[in-house]
Order: sequence, then structure tokens, then C-alpha cells
Amino acid sequence: MVKRPKIPLPLQRRVRQQCAFGCVFCGKPVFEYDHIIEYSKVKCHEFDNLVLLCRDHHGPKTHHCLNIDLLRAKRLNPYNRDKSISSPREFMAGNNPYMVIIGDNIYGVRISENIDESNFSALTIGDQNIISITFYREGGLIYSLPSINIRDENQETLVLVSQGEIQTYENDLRVGLQNWDISCANKTIVIRSAPRKILLSIEYNAGGFWLKRATLYDRQETITVNEKGVHFEQGGRISGQSHVGCLEGLTIC
Ligand SMILES: [Zn+2]
Repeated sequence: MVKRPKIPLPLQRRVRQQCAFGCVFCGKPVFEYDHIIEYSKVKCHEFDNLVLLCRDHHGPKTHHCLNIDLLRAKRLNPYNRDKSISSPREFMAGNNPYMVIIGDNIYGVRISENIDESNFSALTIGDQNIISITFYREGGLIYSLPSINIRDENQETLVLVSQGEIQTYENDLRVGLQNWDISCANKTIVIRSAPRKILLSIEYNAGGFWLKRATLYDRQETITVNEKGVHFEQGGRISGQSHVGCLEGLTIC
């Protein structure tokens, strides 16, 4: 079987712009690229045939339970259109920075007015970016997409979301539905490593992004995040930090 080529990056960006950086039905910022007419039929990546869908909406589409005309209409008028996180003017005034909360540590991100795309490292452990957020300025509005990289005890990648897109590897069975589950409901992204075992829980809305719960594995120890802060297995915690206008959030060396 011929390996299916990746969607070229400039085309991915156009599709994200068209879909206003989220699932066209519900706006969720963790998604997959979907071919409206299946790739196996068209055998190419075409702008008009590509759309962003979250996992909850991708399933019914794959099983032909979703009306194609409705999907096309949604693609032209996606959920997120005009639901920006803020207007640029409010950012210039500095009274409404995007808020990133890690446990109970608060970071206010001011997005530079003359940059179309910027990246904020929200949580870094060692040289590993665990969570970062990319901001896009599009038609005077600002949209945000998360990147999430979660590893297990053996430092093997468990979940990888790259600028909103769920990354799966056909040959890597560890990264598959049998081993983890990602869901977005009620403005919460939840990643489970097994039924009822929550690995990470993020709440987001137009003004911010809150990492409420997480279990993270450093080379040396287990780090847990909850509403009381960031806790280290071998003792110590980081709690109550608050910065506005910083370039990065929490870095653990
Ligand atoms: Zn959706």
C-alpha cells in the first residue's frame, strides 16, 4: 500500500484559518483534519475538501452519520468565526491579557500587536515542552491552539497534540485508542490513560487556559498538578505564583 502523504503545512494553515482554529461544529481547539470526501476516493489533499473536526464530531462523520451538505455549510461558517478570545484593542490596553493557570499559578500573556503568530511555553519540564499555546492573529481577531506532549513513566510519548492537531502514529500502538482517550466536553479537555484514570484535565474559554489536573513523569520523579499547586513526589511544591506580561509560564529544571 502506498503511504498517504502528509497534508502540506501551508495547506494545513489555510484549513485552520478557514475553520477558525477549531472543530467547525463546536469550536474545540483539539482536532483532526478530515477529508469531506474520503481520501481513499479523492487520493489528494484539496483545500475545499478539508475541514477540522474534533474527535467527538469526527467519529460520526467517519461512520457516515453526519450530513455532508451540513458539514460543507459549517466549513464555510465555522463555530469559532467571530468568537475570538479578545479584540486587539483590548490587548493594547493591557487590561485583558490571556490567562494561563498551571494548578494555582497564574500567568498573564500579553500578545504583541504586530506579530501574527506567537508561542507561549506554559509548562516546561527539563528540556521538554509539556504544554504550550500558539496564538494566531487572523482578521483582527486572536485565536489560540494548544500543543500538549505527555509521556509515561518510561518517557515514551503517550499523547501528542501539535498546535491543536491530535498526532497519531500508525506504527505506534502505544498511541492509540486502546491506551488513551482524549475528549473535549463543556470546555474541558480530558486525557485518560485508562478508563477513569485521568492523566490531564484542562479547562479553557475565550479568555484563558487552566491546567487543573495532571500527572507528569520527569526522569527522576512524578509531578502532580492540582488546584493547590504543582507537587513533587520527593517533596516541595510550586504554588501561588502570579506574573503578567511574562514570556513563559512555569519551567521546572
Ligand atoms: Zn466538535
